[in-house]
Amino acid sequence: MRIFDDNGLMVFPCEAMREIREQKNVVLITSCYCPRGHDLVNDKSQFCENNGILLRVRQNQLREGLVALSPIYGDKSRISLGIHLEKGVTMTMLCPECGIPLPVYDECSCGGDVIALFTKPVPDYGNCVGICNRVGCYNAQLRSGNELLNYSTLTEHLT
Ligand SMILES: [Zn+2]
Ligand SMILES: [Zn+2]
Repeated sequence: MRIFDDNGLMVFPCEAMREIREQKNVVLITSCYCPRGHDLVNDKSQFCENNGILLRVRQNQLREGLVALSPIYGDKSRISLGIHLEKGVTMTMLCPECGIPLPVYDECSCGGDVIALFTKPVPDYGNCVGICNRVGCYNAQLRSGNELLNYSTLTEHLT
């Protein structure tokens, strides 16, 4: 698999894309921020021509690497670089820009922590994407104003 294109970007194949494209409504996360306002969505990683969400992760307090997440809400595509993600282990998620740990916002039903990525440059738990920090758990939430969209109920909500 060819990961880097000629500009040094990470390019990932998206098997899920056709399925997603056929859905009527897709939520594309175009920016999300660390508590200091660094945008985690940028062109350092790409998922089907969409900029991905790039995070620094730490496992077992020792090993560090990068994880890129698909910016399409509900798409489980993610890839790790420089670190082998052990299934079931929880990760500390950090801003790749400034290294600040991303804040815990809720407890996941799997026992892991739901980490907040703010959708506005100012930290606001009312406007954030929540993702579980346990490898293999794809629980994700999207909170916008008073609305909470769970991935499982997303289709219902949007149609
Ligand atoms: Zn930052
Ligand atoms: Zn979880």
